[in-house]
Amino acid sequence: MTVLIATKNRNKQREIKKILAKNKHKIVYADDVNLTKDVDEIGDTFAENARIKAKAAADFTGLVAAGDDSGLSVNVLNGEPGVNSRRWQPGSDQDRCQALLKKMHGHNDRSAVFTTVICLYNPKSTQEIYFSGEIVGTITKKPQGNGGFGYDSIFVPEGMKRTFAELAISEKNRLSGRGRAFHKLYEYLESQSL
Ligand code: IMP
Repeated sequence: MTVLIATKNRNKQREIKKILAKNKHKIVYADDVNLTKDVDEIGDTFAENARIKAKAAADFTGLVAAGDDSGLSVNVLNGEPGVNSRRWQPGSDQDRCQALLKKMHGHNDRSAVFTTVICLYNPKSTQEIYFSGEIVGTITKKPQGNGGFGYDSIFVPEGMKRTFAELAISEKNRLSGRGRAFHKLYEYLESQSL
């Protein structure tokens, strides 16, 4: 089976490639199939957005496609930025981190959760299968580390002292919601015939 990983985000691709490297199926990425069109993430949940991305990619290419959607939900902000993690504030990743730190100024409860949901969509059967992963953690008081992307520099996963931006990709993959969800996808694909 050929499976398309629909994300166009190079940072995400780097992480996902490490997890799926030894998969027995043929894995192709957005660039391999000229998947350039952006889709509107209009869903109210991570699962809805993952499905929107997977279905658009599968319909465009005719391939079984995996779409993923992620976000950071901060408890004291009633789950914001959540599904709106990318659009929550204008500007760069750094601008969004600073905006989040500003909103949390003075709050002692710094708990948060990173969520990823993957939808694997088969355009022939229209079957859709979901895989999800979560990691709880805390928001720092200032950015730490130069690796990663998005909110990595302000999120310390549970049990660690360093932010995602201070961890190697393999370490982040072991802990992150995306890592956990894609490990489940890996296991599922391994159980399927070629
Ligand atoms: P997406 O819709 O799944 O691409 O993710 C939405 C936004 O969540 C991204 O633009 C990032 O700001 C943030 N995000 C997603 N995954 C991660 C991650 O692994 N680390 C940090 N931020 C992330």
